[in-house]
Amino acid sequence: MEADLPLDAMLQFSFEFITVLLPDGKITYQSPSSELYLGYSPDEMIGTGIGDYIESCEYGCDPGAWESALAQACGPLHFEAIFRHAQGFPVFVECYTYLDTSQPERRLILHGRDVGEVKTLGSLLRERDHELARSDAELKALIIQHVSELEAGKRRVESILNNSSDAIILATPEGRICQTNASFDQLFGYLPDQMYDQPLILTIVPEQWRAFSSALRAATERGQRSRLDVQACRINGDNFDADVAIAPLPHDPDAGIVVSLRDISERKQMENALRENERRFRGLFESSNDAVFIISLDHIILAANPRAVDLLGYPIEEIVGSPARRFTITEEGESEERLLALQLSGTVPIYERRFRRANGEIRHTEINIAIISDAGGTPLHIQSIVHDITARKLIENELRQSLAREQELGILRARFVSIVSHEFRTPLATIQTTSDALRYYWDKMNPEQIEARFNKIEAQIKHMVMLLEDVLTFGQVQSNTLTAKRTPINLDEFCQVVLDDLRGINAASAVMYECSDPAVEVLADKKLLRQIITNLVTNARKYSPNGSPVHVRLSQTGTAAVIEFADQGIGIPEEDQTHLFEAFHRASNTGHISGTGLGLAITKHAVELHNGTIAVKSAVGVGSTFTITLPIKTIQGIDP
Ligand code: ADP
Repeated sequence: MEADLPLDAMLQFSFEFITVLLPDGKITYQSPSSELYLGYSPDEMIGTGIGDYIESCEYGCDPGAWESALAQACGPLHFEAIFRHAQGFPVFVECYTYLDTSQPERRLILHGRDVGEVKTLGSLLRERDHELARSDAELKALIIQHVSELEAGKRRVESILNNSSDAIILATPEGRICQTNASFDQLFGYLPDQMYDQPLILTIVPEQWRAFSSALRAATERGQRSRLDVQACRINGDNFDADVAIAPLPHDPDAGIVVSLRDISERKQMENALRENERRFRGLFESSNDAVFIISLDHIILAANPRAVDLLGYPIEEIVGSPARRFTITEEGESEERLLALQLSGTVPIYERRFRRANGEIRHTEINIAIISDAGGTPLHIQSIVHDITARKLIENELRQSLAREQELGILRARFVSIVSHEFRTPLATIQTTSDALRYYWDKMNPEQIEARFNKIEAQIKHMVMLLEDVLTFGQVQSNTLTAKRTPINLDEFCQVVLDDLRGINAASAVMYECSDPAVEVLADKKLLRQIITNLVTNARKYSPNGSPVHVRLSQTGTAAVIEFADQGIGIPEEDQTHLFEAFHRASNTGHISGTGLGLAITKHAVELHNGTIAVKSAVGVGSTFTITLPIKTIQGIDP
């Protein structure tokens, strides 16, 4: 080692890194600090090339390059180099290089200082700076984002405020307006901000200031929200109905209140119109001449007007809540539900329905149904207007009956004309030929023959008179004017007289008479009773062409007198027996036996006028028995 001693001693203890190099880079001196810097002892390093320890340097690892750089710089060279520690990690060294020309052999002196720590601190600082810059940027981005969000929120709130169709007013806790939206200005007719700092109550009519103020106080003092209907005041003095909502500003009641005000004049008008409609409808409903029912879609009666209550005769409490079908008589093949369903589909215009009243009475009605729907067209319930047509139905029925009667009469008249004219023609023809014979052969006839002709004419006239009597009596039956003038009659005596008379008219067939109760008495019309007996005996004789006798038997059973008229004549076919008592009906087996078909109809009517009955038993070819019963005259008597 070649060095001055004091200097050498200094170098021994210096922390500086000092290396003396030959121009070719060989180390000729190395300070002891090399151990500290690079992990090599000076002895290990001396004689080795400096390039072995340098990793990178601005001027490279070659001392020749440093020398020429020194020459150019005309002074010491200052640069930073990265050395490699014996354990492989980099060591940052700040280097100063001098050219020592004091010796004959030129030498380069490298004076180094470890800047690794500074470097580390610097890089730490730089890292911190980066981090700070990064968080600063993040913070800025966050702030920008929040600010933009806040601005968006503010814009949103402003747009809500300004686009709201409600007038919105922000007011101080003292009730002074501090902000209004466009709808407020439009609704009240103010210019923007014209009402700034004005008392809020000026927006409504003075009569309502008290109520309005107390609602404002409730909001500011107790944080209460309230809602009220007011008369708001426009700038031009017009008033309008408004719905006002008052609330404290959220999160900060001291900040004031927010008032939202909506023009409800149109709604009020509609409500009034609705109320008016409802009043009118109620009037109509209550005073309608027709029964009106409001029925739910599941057919329960929801309401009924007074006329409906009259129609059904049930108390209203019993009607409302009952199913509609409870009061109606369901016609065969129909159901109330089906009809209502058809009505809902609009396929049944008006239909007839019978109702059963509480007292069992039946009312005929005509029903018109209307579906009540909501604004969207959804059916809500059914309105059923029920028109009582019972009176009309009765008249219709009467008309129908009288029409049927008229038709029946028409038929009767036709049958009458044909039968009666035929029945009259026969005796008239007999009278005509007999009187002709008398006229032309009078001289040739003896008195007996003449007498016989006159008797014949007389018999025909009697027959015609009987016929006429039947016709007249039938007329009375038809017009319901046949009456019975009843007097007490001993039936036995009466029958004998009438039968004697009949025997006198026609002695050809015998009439046998039996009586088991000679004392039996009835209250009867003599003329009618004679006609009854005469008809039945005449028929029995007429329909017994073989001349077999007729049996008349009088008896009494219980409270009735019974007279039987039995013959052994042609009998009556079974199918005719049920129609025998109808006017003009003649059995199919009468053949040429003359007759009008009136006798039995009159007889039945006359018997019934006496509260009696008539019945027939007959077999074709065997004979017939007609039986009449008449109530006997009791001691107390029967009403004449
Ligand atoms: P008619 O003038 O035809 O005898 P009636 O009314 O007295 O009319 O009798 C109705 C019908 O009843 C007769 O046409 C006849 O067919 C039947 N008839 C009534 N009485 C007898 C009877 N005794 N025997 C058989 N048929 C009878």
